[in-house]
Amino acid sequence: MISQRSIQDVLNIAQIEDVVQDYVNLRRRGVNMLGLCPFHDEKSPSFTVSPAKNIYKCFGCGKGGNPINFIMEHEALSYPEAIRHLASKYGVELEESGNSDEHREEQQKAESLYLINKYASDHFNNNLLNTDEGKSIGLSYFKSRGFRMSTIETFDLGYSINEYKHFTEEATAKKYNLDMLKTLGLVSAKGYDFYRGRVMFPIHNLSGKVIGFGGRILTENKKAPKYVNSPESEIYNKRKTLYGIYQAKNEIRKQDFCILVEGYTDVISLHQSDVKNVVASSGTALTKDQIKLVKRYTNNITVIYDGDAAGIKAALRGMDLILEQDMNIRLVLLPDKEDPDSFVKSVGTTAFNEYLKEESKDFILFKTDLVKEEAGDDPIKKAALLKDIIQSISVISDTLKRSVYIQQCSRLLEIDENILVQETNKMIRGNIKKKQVEQDRERLREQYKERRSQTRSEKSPDGGFPSEPPPGYGGGEEYDGPPDETGYYEADHYDDSSPRQNAKQFAQASKPKDENQERDLARICVTFGNELYEPDQTLKVATFILDNIADLIAYFDNEVYKEIVVQAADLASKDTDNWDSYFTNHENEKIRNEAISLMSSPYVYANWESKEVELQTQKKPELNQQKDSYQAVLRFKLKKVKRIMENLSAEIKAMDHEDENFLINVKVLQKLQEQRNTIASELHTVIL
Ligand SMILES: [Zn+2]
Repeated sequence: MISQRSIQDVLNIAQIEDVVQDYVNLRRRGVNMLGLCPFHDEKSPSFTVSPAKNIYKCFGCGKGGNPINFIMEHEALSYPEAIRHLASKYGVELEESGNSDEHREEQQKAESLYLINKYASDHFNNNLLNTDEGKSIGLSYFKSRGFRMSTIETFDLGYSINEYKHFTEEATAKKYNLDMLKTLGLVSAKGYDFYRGRVMFPIHNLSGKVIGFGGRILTENKKAPKYVNSPESEIYNKRKTLYGIYQAKNEIRKQDFCILVEGYTDVISLHQSDVKNVVASSGTALTKDQIKLVKRYTNNITVIYDGDAAGIKAALRGMDLILEQDMNIRLVLLPDKEDPDSFVKSVGTTAFNEYLKEESKDFILFKTDLVKEEAGDDPIKKAALLKDIIQSISVISDTLKRSVYIQQCSRLLEIDENILVQETNKMIRGNIKKKQVEQDRERLREQYKERRSQTRSEKSPDGGFPSEPPPGYGGGEEYDGPPDETGYYEADHYDDSSPRQNAKQFAQASKPKDENQERDLARICVTFGNELYEPDQTLKVATFILDNIADLIAYFDNEVYKEIVVQAADLASKDTDNWDSYFTNHENEKIRNEAISLMSSPYVYANWESKEVELQTQKKPELNQQKDSYQAVLRFKLKKVKRIMENLSAEIKAMDHEDENFLINVKVLQKLQEQRNTIASELHTVIL
């Protein structure tokens, strides 16, 4: 692991505007800088960089973070990889510490494997361009396919000389480790070149490192398979890899859809024809991990088929997986005897894109058509195929979408809609049961991970907070459900409703309602928790907040908000100079992301004013810290007291009146009522 000190060194030297400007044109706008977001397609800039806070935030897509996060996101690198990337940009020497030898060895091994693959890729490329055999066989093959030199370069294409030890001898002469060469499948167990007389397609991971190869034979050798791929290794997992993703990722993100084809050459020739949002699952049936890879960039997939009926059916099997991930999937069949490569060449890029748009069919309807055609009048065949369609419909989580599909299928197949609904529901119940088992397993995994990271943060010097379940009145789960009245006091005054924020708002709407009150406390703590609650006093805002809600701290539903409040109060007592960076560079990713969102969320003040006319005379919160924090504390308390009351009333209702605790509970409820009224009237006074 890279030492905390080194990470700090990197963060101290890496200026966000400098890092971002490698990729985005920024213009100054007041204290901030503004540009077109590299993570989503936009025409007017909403990507904001704050040099003072050393963070970025896009108000279009919501992405935000510090320089390390930017590199992670933009270059699709892991956290340590991004740190290394920045360290090399700024010439920071990294100190690796707190690392077990075993872990370091593993890491070094992975790095050596990448290094060897890089060497091999260069070697094959050199064969292709600079040897007679490579030029006459490999290069002429690529040329015959119409590949330009720039394309060959983009995809690092190569050629393996048709000799037994050409590569092996050169690699071992350069002191590359023979065992590792074998691990990577470049050298056979017996010590011969694994790839001989093949054109070579290096397979890249998201960050552009070569993780494996595909080799296509060019001779008419009937015994040898047409394509061979590297075996799986520590760095190459076929199920998690899509060919071309490195070259396609930015375009997929920009166009917000991804084209899936079958072969390497399809990817390459479409890319060359300026259809760059294209990947191939190469050799394996589509997997969940591959879909998740695409889902990082878009929810829309169009699958292109050129094969026969058998090929199509095989491919259809993977499609339920895509539906399950809530992705929109369309299929398109190419005209007879065309593949993507030949088709784009014959019709051109524009016509190709138009064909995709016009001829692609929604997956379920595609399947329905297929059933109709295949089953004909055979009722038994039809029933079996129908079951298959219902299965596909049942994995779609969007009810509206589902019912539209059912209607369409009913019409197309002339089957009673009610029967389809019943069958789908039956299937859904089955799916739910299956999912529950999966979720239980997932939860256990999460708990295990949390426990591990908890142990880590307990050890860390700057004190993470172990998240023990709160003692006393139950945990967060008990509060689920009570309906929320849209009361005057709970008015959600910071909720920005600019159209761009719709998606975010929607996500918020599904959270428990108390989140708004909790979030507000966290927002205040992050933005001005370190300032004085009252002028000429020593009390800080964050301390004021924590002091006032200390008895309710166990009632936070959202652990992240809770930790922000608690840590802010702790930090406020220490008189730090690095208030912002403490949160924006926080080692806990959830805290870091939330803090950045809270810090940079545009405070749409007009919205507040239009919602609550009474507030018009009030100053903006940042000019009115005392009132803002006091209100937020009261809102939070009111909300929580109401919740406790609701639970208690329910308990009392269910109680036997003879129970010795009955009267005690009733008394407690009365006390709570008084407390609620006091808070409510206090809040009213503060607001008016
Ligand atoms: Zn964006």
